[in-house]
Amino acid sequence: MKNIKDYNLEELKKELIDLGEKPFRAEQIFKWIHIDNVTSFDDMSNISLELREKLKKNFTLCIYKIIKKQESVDGTKKYLFDVLDGNAIETVLMDYKHGKSLCVSSQIGCKMGCKFCASTGVEFNRNLTSGEIVEQILAVQRDENIKISNVVFMGIGEPLDNYENVVNAIKIINNPKGLNIGARHISISTSGLVPKIYKLAEENLQCTLSISLHATTNEKRSMMMPVNNAYDIETLLNACKYYIEKTNRRISFEYALAKEKNDNLEDAKRLVKLLKGMICHVNLIPINKIENGEFTKSSNENIIKFRDYLNEHGIVATIRRELGPDIDAACGQLRKKEVKK
Ligand code: SAH
Repeated sequence: MKNIKDYNLEELKKELIDLGEKPFRAEQIFKWIHIDNVTSFDDMSNISLELREKLKKNFTLCIYKIIKKQESVDGTKKYLFDVLDGNAIETVLMDYKHGKSLCVSSQIGCKMGCKFCASTGVEFNRNLTSGEIVEQILAVQRDENIKISNVVFMGIGEPLDNYENVVNAIKIINNPKGLNIGARHISISTSGLVPKIYKLAEENLQCTLSISLHATTNEKRSMMMPVNNAYDIETLLNACKYYIEKTNRRISFEYALAKEKNDNLEDAKRLVKLLKGMICHVNLIPINKIENGEFTKSSNENIIKFRDYLNEHGIVATIRRELGPDIDAACGQLRKKEVKK
């Protein structure tokens, strides 16, 4: 059966026409799904009984089950969702002064193989569909009775490796007739799939692009991130420059600081040279230790020194506040799970 949450409004109109219905019904149904967040077609009270039966026959509403919910001392909440096929994924809810931010997963597992990330540890299973991405937001909104204001594609998976579904999910959550989360409140983070960065530049979306850079020489970056063997730093930064030119949006570079790996002054100096003249921002992440990881956190003193060096040399840099490390909900700590039967 088809997941009705996979469709953006235009596609849903076509589906309804195929069922012999008037397209305006699609708007009503879209609203029931994304604004009222119903869990049953029977709750769609302005839809005729006959059409509700047709919908039930053709579609599911894809309602996730919460297998586990953990809460950090800092208020961050981590969900383990049963995605209804024997797999489970994690989604993290963060409470900021400016609103509720949700970190969503885009794939079940990840192919990228970054050495410092827990999502690498488990075999890749499959892409999530657009509806399965959107349902993470809807499920958390139902559970907490809140409205999510920001979405970051920074959970499990490489969003640009699931390009079509991620872009369609953004179109769905963007729609003012649905969740209405503005593109400027959505961030996509990528390990650096260069052809997809060029493609994304053409989409005319206003979302923020974050690039996981993490190193300043190809030798170091290839050791940490195998994707660098396919697209090296220079190729990646050229794509970033094109993206900035095309979209007029500033790029955010993520740089996880690991003790004695990429955190000395020479690295900071090279980073300044690489990013000079680009409209960008550097997000420094104190690296989170993962099981069997050879990477450990840089000292606080060093992290501050690194930040100050960048700021003093014309690169705007901030240190990302660590959220939820006690429940393994922080950057790089999410992983695919199996549903225990
Ligand atoms: N695959 C995408 C989305 C993941 S976003 C990407 O690579 O960008 C999660 C961010 O956390 C990325 O910048 C990732 O590189 C970073 N990260 C991974 N493992 C980490 C760890 N152990 N400590 C801190 N950050 C980590």
